[in-house]
Amino acid sequence: DGAPPLLRVKNAEVIYDHVILVLKGVNLEVPEGKIVSLLGANGAGKTTTLKSISNLLRTERGEVTKGSIEYQGVRIDRLEPHEMVKMGVIQVMEGRHCFGHLTVEENLLTGAYTRRASRSEIKHDLERIYDYLPRLRARRTSQAGYTSGGEQQMVAVGRALMARPKMVLLDEPSMGLAPQVVEEIFQIVKDLNQKEGVSFLIAEQNTTVALRYSDYGYILENGRVVMEGSAQELAASDDVKEFYLGLS
Ligand code: ATP
Repeated sequence: DGAPPLLRVKNAEVIYDHVILVLKGVNLEVPEGKIVSLLGANGAGKTTTLKSISNLLRTERGEVTKGSIEYQGVRIDRLEPHEMVKMGVIQVMEGRHCFGHLTVEENLLTGAYTRRASRSEIKHDLERIYDYLPRLRARRTSQAGYTSGGEQQMVAVGRALMARPKMVLLDEPSMGLAPQVVEEIFQIVKDLNQKEGVSFLIAEQNTTVALRYSDYGYILENGRVVMEGSAQELAASDDVKEFYLGLS
């Protein structure tokens, strides 16, 4: 219908420290309401792509040197990270950064800091998040640092949800988690997508699981998209099977 996709990365080139060329012209789109995965081996540039969207590159002396990033048809590559959060784009960093000394609930509350919300709104949002993440409700008063890896990943996702995002950039959610817990995390993503309409761009090395829960996928190799297609197409492709399935 001619409407722009929710997110469009156009020919993005990223350089670290003025000399290290890491993204060599990446093109990708996330249509509104979809789950898109960004696949590829360690070092392919997945994290860099997410950070170029959320504008977290600068803190690492990285820069988008060519191309553009558009959200709802508007260029966003000069915005500050907090402005991105206000627009509804939020990144969940790799390695589930939570505040280990705070309780689960205190961690979730830190996610509301950019909003001017009343206590009752925040309480309402907390309850909604616990409906999606019931394990966190049970652990709400536990110190986050003593919860399991899967629970910490859920805390990281839950904290992002407190900002009421339209689009979540999720970096390697499966990292270090048992297969059953990985399924649980992806099922939560699917629920949030279907019931709340949140769109996701997920960087993953676990191709098999990511494709099972995604609508569309891109495969990144050495800073370039080398293949893209519907999740079904990619999962059925011999090249993908040979090079990426069972890689994680
Ligand atoms: P991973 O699974 O390890 O996160 P990835 O696909 O997300 O891999 P990136 O983390 O984006 O890949 O890294 C891509 C390349 O950029 C790697 O070669 C990495 O060494 C390099 N790189 C990443 N961050 C920096 C930085 N701050 N300075 C210089 N080079 C960097």
